[in-house]
Amino acid sequence: MSKIFFVASDEEIKNGKTTDIYFERTEEILRKKNISQSVVAEVTCGGIPNSWPWGILLGTEDVAHLFEGLPVTVYSLREGTFFRAKDEKGVRTPVIIVEGDYAAFCVYETPLLGFICQASGIATAAARVKKVAGEKTVLSFGARRMHPSITPMISRACYIAGFDGISAVVSADMLHISATGTMPHALIIVMQDHSKAWKAFDEVVDKNVNRVALCDTYLDEKLETLMAASAVRDLSGVRLDTPGSRRGNFKEIIQEVRWELDLRGYTHIKIFVSGGLDEESVQELKPFVDGFGVGTYVSNGRTLDFSLDIVEMDDQYVAKRGKFSGKKQMYRCTECLRDVIVPWNSKIPECHGKMEPLLEPLVEKGKVVRKFQPASRTREYVLEQVKNLDLW
Ligand SMILES: [Zn+2]
Repeated sequence: MSKIFFVASDEEIKNGKTTDIYFERTEEILRKKNISQSVVAEVTCGGIPNSWPWGILLGTEDVAHLFEGLPVTVYSLREGTFFRAKDEKGVRTPVIIVEGDYAAFCVYETPLLGFICQASGIATAAARVKKVAGEKTVLSFGARRMHPSITPMISRACYIAGFDGISAVVSADMLHISATGTMPHALIIVMQDHSKAWKAFDEVVDKNVNRVALCDTYLDEKLETLMAASAVRDLSGVRLDTPGSRRGNFKEIIQEVRWELDLRGYTHIKIFVSGGLDEESVQELKPFVDGFGVGTYVSNGRTLDFSLDIVEMDDQYVAKRGKFSGKKQMYRCTECLRDVIVPWNSKIPECHGKMEPLLEPLVEKGKVVRKFQPASRTREYVLEQVKNLDLW
Protein backbone atom coordinates (compact mmCIF):
# COMPACT_ATOMS: atom_id res chain seq x y z
CA MET A 1 0.00 0.00 0.00
CA SER A 2 1.41 3.38 -0.95
CA LYS A 3 1.50 6.15 1.59
CA ILE A 4 2.24 9.84 1.44
CA PHE A 5 2.48 10.68 5.15
CA PHE A 6 4.71 9.31 7.89
CA VAL A 7 2.01 7.23 9.55
CA ALA A 8 1.34 3.54 10.04
CA SER A 9 -1.76 2.19 8.32
CA ASP A 10 -4.47 0.29 10.18
CA GLU A 11 -3.20 -2.80 8.43
CA GLU A 12 0.38 -2.31 9.62
CA ILE A 13 -0.78 -1.79 13.19
CA LYS A 14 -3.07 -4.81 13.02
CA ASN A 15 -0.21 -6.92 11.65
CA GLY A 16 2.06 -5.91 14.52
CA LYS A 17 4.42 -3.88 12.36
CA THR A 18 4.64 -0.96 14.77
CA THR A 19 6.15 -3.23 17.41
CA ASP A 20 9.65 -2.97 18.82
CA ILE A 21 12.06 -5.32 17.07
CA TYR A 22 12.83 -7.27 20.26
CA PHE A 23 9.29 -8.60 20.31
CA GLU A 24 9.66 -9.88 16.73
CA ARG A 25 12.89 -11.56 17.76
CA THR A 26 11.23 -13.03 20.84
CA GLU A 27 8.43 -14.44 18.75
CA GLU A 28 10.92 -15.93 16.29
CA ILE A 29 12.94 -17.58 19.07
CA LEU A 30 9.87 -19.02 20.80
CA ARG A 31 8.54 -20.41 17.52
CA LYS A 32 11.86 -21.93 16.45
CA LYS A 33 12.31 -23.50 19.88
CA ASN A 34 8.70 -24.73 19.88
CA ILE A 35 7.98 -22.99 23.12
CA SER A 36 4.30 -22.38 23.67
CA GLN A 37 3.65 -20.84 27.05
CA SER A 38 0.26 -19.84 28.24
CA VAL A 39 0.70 -16.65 30.25
CA VAL A 40 -1.33 -14.04 32.08
CA ALA A 41 0.00 -10.53 31.48
CA GLU A 42 -1.33 -7.40 33.15
CA VAL A 43 -1.21 -3.74 32.21
CA THR A 44 -0.54 -1.36 35.08
CA CYS A 45 0.95 2.08 35.62
CA GLY A 46 3.28 2.99 38.45
CA GLY A 47 1.92 6.49 38.95
CA ILE A 48 -0.30 9.14 37.41
CA PRO A 49 1.64 12.18 36.08
CA ASN A 50 1.83 15.43 38.06
CA SER A 51 0.92 13.61 41.32
CA TRP A 52 -2.70 13.55 40.15
CA PRO A 53 -4.68 11.05 42.25
CA TRP A 54 -6.54 9.32 39.44
CA GLY A 55 -6.56 8.74 35.70
CA ILE A 56 -9.25 7.93 33.13
CA LEU A 57 -8.70 4.77 31.11
CA LEU A 58 -9.37 5.21 27.42
CA GLY A 59 -8.51 3.20 24.35
CA THR A 60 -10.07 -0.18 25.18
CA GLU A 61 -12.10 -0.18 21.97
CA ASP A 62 -8.91 0.10 19.94
CA VAL A 63 -7.36 -2.61 22.11
CA ALA A 64 -10.32 -4.89 21.43
CA HIS A 65 -9.89 -4.43 17.70
CA LEU A 66 -6.15 -4.96 17.99
CA PHE A 67 -6.63 -8.36 19.64
CA GLU A 68 -9.65 -9.41 17.60
CA GLY A 69 -8.87 -12.63 15.78
CA LEU A 70 -5.86 -13.54 17.94
CA PRO A 71 -5.90 -16.62 20.19
CA VAL A 72 -6.12 -14.51 23.36
CA THR A 73 -8.60 -13.56 26.03
CA VAL A 74 -8.55 -9.98 27.29
CA TYR A 75 -10.18 -8.34 30.30
CA SER A 76 -10.28 -4.62 30.93
CA LEU A 77 -11.89 -1.89 32.94
CA ARG A 78 -14.82 -0.36 31.14
CA GLU A 79 -13.93 2.46 28.71
CA GLY A 80 -13.77 5.73 30.64
CA THR A 81 -13.37 4.19 34.11
CA PHE A 82 -11.35 6.20 36.61
CA PHE A 83 -8.55 4.36 38.35
CA ARG A 84 -5.82 5.01 40.87
CA ALA A 85 -2.32 3.76 40.14
CA LYS A 86 -2.38 1.51 43.23
CA ASP A 87 -4.77 0.35 45.93
CA GLU A 88 -4.27 0.98 49.67
CA LYS A 89 -1.88 -1.96 49.95
CA GLY A 90 0.32 -0.67 47.15
CA VAL A 91 -0.87 -3.19 44.59
CA ARG A 92 -0.83 -1.71 41.08
CA THR A 93 -4.23 -1.47 39.44
CA PRO A 94 -4.52 -3.96 36.56
CA VAL A 95 -6.43 -2.02 33.92
CA ILE A 96 -6.11 -4.72 31.27
CA ILE A 97 -5.27 -8.44 31.46
CA VAL A 98 -4.17 -10.46 28.43
CA GLU A 99 -4.16 -14.26 28.53
CA GLY A 100 -2.86 -16.63 25.92
CA ASP A 101 0.20 -18.10 24.26
CA TYR A 102 2.86 -15.42 24.71
CA ALA A 103 4.33 -15.95 21.24
CA ALA A 104 0.91 -15.23 19.75
CA PHE A 105 0.61 -11.75 21.19
CA CYS A 106 4.06 -10.50 22.24
CA VAL A 107 4.41 -8.16 19.26
CA TYR A 108 1.20 -6.40 20.25
CA GLU A 109 2.55 -5.02 23.50
CA THR A 110 3.85 -1.89 21.75
CA PRO A 111 0.61 -0.90 19.98
CA LEU A 112 -1.52 -1.98 22.96
CA LEU A 113 0.31 0.43 25.24
CA GLY A 114 0.36 3.14 22.60
CA PHE A 115 -3.39 2.96 22.23
CA ILE A 116 -4.10 3.46 25.91
CA CYS A 117 -1.17 5.58 27.20
CA GLN A 118 -1.84 8.62 25.05
CA ALA A 119 -5.65 8.49 24.93
CA SER A 120 -5.81 8.03 28.71
CA GLY A 121 -3.35 10.89 29.26
CA ILE A 122 -5.46 13.26 27.15
CA ALA A 123 -8.71 12.09 28.75
CA THR A 124 -7.27 12.53 32.24
CA ALA A 125 -6.08 16.10 31.58
CA ALA A 126 -9.38 16.95 29.88
CA ALA A 127 -11.51 15.47 32.68
CA ARG A 128 -9.65 17.65 35.17
CA VAL A 129 -10.14 20.81 33.09
CA LYS A 130 -13.86 20.08 32.73
CA LYS A 131 -14.19 19.44 36.46
CA VAL A 132 -12.56 22.80 37.18
CA ALA A 133 -14.76 24.55 34.58
CA GLY A 134 -17.92 23.05 36.06
CA GLU A 135 -21.05 24.20 34.24
CA LYS A 136 -19.08 26.47 31.92
CA THR A 137 -18.65 25.35 28.31
CA VAL A 138 -15.31 23.80 27.39
CA LEU A 139 -14.33 23.19 23.78
CA SER A 140 -11.44 21.14 22.44
CA PHE A 141 -9.19 23.28 20.23
CA GLY A 142 -6.05 21.17 20.42
CA ALA A 143 -6.12 19.23 17.15
CA ARG A 144 -3.62 21.57 15.49
CA ARG A 145 -0.88 20.82 18.00
CA MET A 146 -0.75 17.13 17.25
CA HIS A 147 -0.33 14.85 14.26
CA PRO A 148 -3.45 15.06 12.10
CA SER A 149 -3.79 11.27 11.89
CA ILE A 150 -4.71 11.18 15.58
CA THR A 151 -7.15 14.09 15.48
CA PRO A 152 -10.18 11.81 15.99
CA MET A 153 -8.55 10.12 18.98
CA ILE A 154 -7.78 13.47 20.63
CA SER A 155 -11.24 14.87 20.05
CA ARG A 156 -12.89 11.68 21.27
CA ALA A 157 -10.78 11.67 24.44
CA CYS A 158 -11.69 15.31 25.18
CA TYR A 159 -15.37 14.77 24.45
CA ILE A 160 -15.65 11.59 26.51
CA ALA A 161 -13.76 13.31 29.34
CA GLY A 162 -16.59 15.83 29.50
CA PHE A 163 -15.76 18.59 27.03
CA ASP A 164 -18.89 20.13 25.56
CA GLY A 165 -17.67 20.38 22.00
CA ILE A 166 -14.81 19.80 19.62
CA SER A 167 -13.61 21.86 16.69
CA ALA A 168 -12.27 19.23 14.28
CA VAL A 169 -14.60 18.36 11.44
CA VAL A 170 -13.56 14.72 10.99
CA SER A 171 -14.01 14.08 14.71
CA ALA A 172 -17.47 15.63 14.80
CA ASP A 173 -18.61 13.24 12.07
CA MET A 174 -17.17 10.32 13.98
CA LEU A 175 -18.75 11.34 17.28
CA HIS A 176 -22.11 12.24 15.68
CA ILE A 177 -22.03 15.76 17.09
CA SER A 178 -21.68 19.16 15.42
CA ALA A 179 -18.23 20.69 15.28
CA THR A 180 -17.96 23.93 17.23
CA GLY A 181 -15.91 27.02 16.49
CA THR A 182 -16.02 30.67 15.62
CA MET A 183 -13.63 32.20 13.12
CA PRO A 184 -9.88 32.66 12.83
CA HIS A 185 -8.06 35.98 12.97
CA ALA A 186 -7.19 35.31 9.34
CA LEU A 187 -10.77 36.01 8.24
CA ILE A 188 -10.63 39.49 9.73
CA ILE A 189 -7.16 40.10 8.32
CA VAL A 190 -8.07 38.94 4.83
CA MET A 191 -11.26 41.03 4.79
CA GLN A 192 -9.38 43.99 6.30
CA ASP A 193 -12.48 45.21 8.09
CA HIS A 194 -13.73 43.87 11.41
CA SER A 195 -17.39 44.66 10.91
CA LYS A 196 -17.41 43.40 7.33
CA ALA A 197 -15.88 40.11 8.44
CA TRP A 198 -18.34 39.59 11.30
CA LYS A 199 -21.27 40.54 9.08
CA ALA A 200 -20.06 38.22 6.31
CA PHE A 201 -19.92 35.38 8.84
CA ASP A 202 -23.48 36.21 9.87
CA GLU A 203 -24.64 36.27 6.22
CA VAL A 204 -22.89 33.15 5.00
CA VAL A 205 -22.70 30.64 7.83
CA ASP A 206 -25.63 28.31 8.62
CA LYS A 207 -28.20 30.01 10.83
CA ASN A 208 -28.02 27.25 13.41
CA VAL A 209 -24.44 28.23 14.24
CA ASN A 210 -24.10 30.65 17.14
CA ARG A 211 -22.83 34.06 16.08
CA VAL A 212 -19.62 34.41 18.03
CA ALA A 213 -17.20 37.14 16.94
CA LEU A 214 -13.47 36.94 17.49
CA CYS A 215 -12.60 40.28 19.08
CA ASP A 216 -8.91 40.99 19.47
CA THR A 217 -7.36 41.03 16.01
CA TYR A 218 -6.10 44.60 15.68
CA LEU A 219 -7.79 46.69 18.33
CA ASP A 220 -8.54 46.62 22.00
CA GLU A 221 -10.83 43.82 23.24
CA LYS A 222 -13.37 46.25 24.65
CA LEU A 223 -13.56 48.31 21.48
CA GLU A 224 -13.80 45.33 19.12
CA THR A 225 -16.44 43.68 21.32
CA LEU A 226 -18.66 46.75 21.21
CA MET A 227 -18.10 47.05 17.45
CA ALA A 228 -19.20 43.42 17.00
CA ALA A 229 -22.21 43.89 19.25
CA SER A 230 -23.50 46.70 17.07
CA ALA A 231 -22.46 45.09 13.75
CA VAL A 232 -24.19 41.73 14.22
CA ARG A 233 -27.81 41.84 15.32
CA ASP A 234 -27.98 38.32 16.78
CA LEU A 235 -24.51 38.23 18.21
CA SER A 236 -24.52 35.52 20.85
CA GLY A 237 -20.97 35.89 22.04
CA VAL A 238 -17.46 37.12 21.59
CA ARG A 239 -14.23 35.18 21.78
CA LEU A 240 -11.15 36.77 23.24
CA ASP A 241 -7.89 35.13 22.25
CA THR A 242 -5.60 37.92 23.42
CA PRO A 243 -1.93 37.14 22.67
CA GLY A 244 0.36 36.62 25.64
CA SER A 245 2.35 39.78 24.91
CA ARG A 246 -0.80 41.91 25.28
CA ARG A 247 -2.46 40.16 28.16
CA GLY A 248 -1.22 42.10 31.11
CA ASN A 249 -4.09 40.94 33.24
CA PHE A 250 -6.45 38.79 31.15
CA LYS A 251 -8.95 38.48 33.97
CA GLU A 252 -9.29 42.26 34.28
CA ILE A 253 -9.63 42.65 30.50
CA ILE A 254 -12.52 40.16 30.59
CA GLN A 255 -14.14 41.86 33.59
CA GLU A 256 -13.95 45.19 31.80
CA VAL A 257 -15.47 43.78 28.60
CA ARG A 258 -18.30 42.23 30.64
CA TRP A 259 -19.01 45.53 32.34
CA GLU A 260 -19.07 47.52 29.12
CA LEU A 261 -21.38 44.98 27.45
CA ASP A 262 -23.80 44.90 30.39
CA LEU A 263 -23.83 48.67 30.66
CA ARG A 264 -25.11 48.90 27.08
CA GLY A 265 -27.75 46.23 27.54
CA TYR A 266 -25.80 43.37 25.96
CA THR A 267 -26.14 41.11 28.98
CA HIS A 268 -27.00 38.17 26.69
CA ILE A 269 -23.69 38.33 24.85
CA LYS A 270 -21.42 35.63 26.16
CA ILE A 271 -17.68 35.80 26.59
CA PHE A 272 -15.51 32.90 25.46
CA VAL A 273 -11.78 32.80 25.94
CA SER A 274 -8.98 30.79 24.39
CA GLY A 275 -5.22 30.77 24.05
CA GLY A 276 -2.83 28.79 26.24
CA LEU A 277 -5.43 27.90 28.86
CA ASP A 278 -4.82 25.26 31.53
CA GLU A 279 -6.43 24.10 34.77
CA GLU A 280 -5.12 27.09 36.67
CA SER A 281 -6.27 29.77 34.23
CA VAL A 282 -9.64 28.08 33.76
CA GLN A 283 -10.05 28.21 37.55
CA GLU A 284 -9.11 31.89 37.66
CA LEU A 285 -11.27 33.04 34.75
CA LYS A 286 -14.27 30.82 35.39
CA PRO A 287 -16.36 33.38 37.30
CA PHE A 288 -16.12 35.92 34.47
CA VAL A 289 -16.56 33.92 31.27
CA ASP A 290 -19.14 31.62 29.71
CA GLY A 291 -16.80 29.20 28.03
CA PHE A 292 -13.27 28.14 27.22
CA GLY A 293 -11.43 26.82 24.19
CA VAL A 294 -8.66 24.60 25.54
CA GLY A 295 -6.00 23.25 23.21
CA THR A 296 -2.45 22.19 23.85
CA TYR A 297 -2.91 21.63 27.57
CA VAL A 298 -5.16 18.66 26.87
CA SER A 299 -4.02 17.44 23.44
CA ASN A 300 -0.52 17.39 24.89
CA GLY A 301 -1.73 15.82 28.14
CA ARG A 302 1.11 13.74 29.55
CA THR A 303 0.80 10.09 28.59
CA LEU A 304 0.11 7.63 31.36
CA ASP A 305 3.08 5.28 31.39
CA PHE A 306 1.38 1.93 31.34
CA SER A 307 3.47 -1.21 31.06
CA LEU A 308 2.67 -4.84 30.41
CA ASP A 309 4.12 -7.62 32.56
CA ILE A 310 3.75 -11.37 32.67
CA VAL A 311 2.49 -12.21 36.15
CA GLU A 312 1.43 -15.84 35.82
CA MET A 313 2.49 -18.74 33.60
CA ASP A 314 0.91 -22.20 33.61
CA ASP A 315 -0.48 -21.47 37.09
CA GLN A 316 2.92 -20.42 38.41
CA TYR A 317 3.52 -16.98 39.91
CA VAL A 318 6.30 -15.46 37.85
CA ALA A 319 6.30 -11.63 38.00
CA LYS A 320 9.66 -9.91 37.58
CA ARG A 321 11.27 -7.76 40.29
CA GLY A 322 9.11 -4.76 41.12
CA LYS A 323 5.84 -6.32 39.98
CA PHE A 324 3.25 -8.32 41.94
CA SER A 325 2.62 -11.87 40.71
CA GLY A 326 -0.67 -13.52 39.86
CA LYS A 327 -3.81 -12.70 37.94
CA LYS A 328 -5.86 -10.14 39.89
CA GLN A 329 -9.32 -8.68 40.06
CA MET A 330 -10.09 -5.17 41.25
CA TYR A 331 -13.20 -4.54 43.32
CA ARG A 332 -14.61 -1.05 43.86
CA CYS A 333 -16.95 -0.13 46.69
CA THR A 334 -20.05 1.50 45.21
CA GLU A 335 -20.46 3.60 48.36
CA CYS A 336 -17.00 4.99 49.12
CA LEU A 337 -15.20 4.24 45.81
CA ARG A 338 -12.42 2.39 47.65
CA ASP A 339 -10.55 -0.09 45.47
CA VAL A 340 -9.32 -3.46 46.70
CA ILE A 341 -7.17 -5.62 44.43
CA VAL A 342 -7.14 -9.34 45.22
CA PRO A 343 -5.96 -12.55 43.54
CA TRP A 344 -8.39 -13.65 40.82
CA ASN A 345 -11.15 -15.96 42.12
CA SER A 346 -10.50 -15.11 45.76
CA LYS A 347 -13.26 -14.09 48.14
CA ILE A 348 -14.94 -10.76 47.39
CA PRO A 349 -13.49 -8.20 49.83
CA GLU A 350 -15.84 -6.23 52.07
CA CYS A 351 -16.51 -2.52 52.40
CA HIS A 352 -19.43 -0.17 53.07
CA GLY A 353 -21.41 -0.98 49.97
CA LYS A 354 -21.50 -3.47 47.13
CA MET A 355 -18.05 -4.45 45.88
CA GLU A 356 -18.10 -4.50 42.10
CA PRO A 357 -15.52 -6.41 40.05
CA LEU A 358 -14.19 -3.94 37.47
CA LEU A 359 -12.19 -6.16 35.13
CA GLU A 360 -14.66 -7.50 32.60
CA PRO A 361 -14.20 -9.62 29.46
CA LEU A 362 -13.24 -7.58 26.40
CA VAL A 363 -12.09 -10.28 23.99
CA GLU A 364 -12.69 -14.01 24.44
CA LYS A 365 -10.49 -16.29 22.34
CA GLY A 366 -10.20 -13.63 19.67
CA LYS A 367 -13.84 -12.61 19.66
CA VAL A 368 -14.77 -9.11 20.82
CA VAL A 369 -17.40 -9.73 23.50
CA ARG A 370 -17.93 -6.22 24.83
CA LYS A 371 -20.73 -4.14 23.42
CA PHE A 372 -19.35 -0.62 23.16
CA GLN A 373 -21.49 2.34 24.04
CA PRO A 374 -21.80 5.52 22.02
CA ALA A 375 -19.27 8.18 23.02
CA SER A 376 -22.06 10.33 24.51
CA ARG A 377 -22.94 7.55 26.99
CA THR A 378 -19.31 7.01 27.95
CA ARG A 379 -19.07 10.78 28.46
CA GLU A 380 -21.98 10.67 30.92
CA TYR A 381 -20.28 7.77 32.73
CA VAL A 382 -17.04 9.77 33.05
CA LEU A 383 -18.82 12.93 34.27
CA GLU A 384 -20.76 10.91 36.83
CA GLN A 385 -17.57 9.42 38.25
CA VAL A 386 -15.49 12.60 38.18
CA LYS A 387 -18.24 14.46 40.07
CA ASN A 388 -17.31 12.42 43.14
CA LEU A 389 -13.54 12.72 42.81
CA ASP A 390 -11.16 15.28 44.23
CA LEU A 391 -8.56 16.93 42.00
CA TRP A 392 -5.83 16.48 44.58
ZN1 LIG B 1 -16.64 1.42 51.04
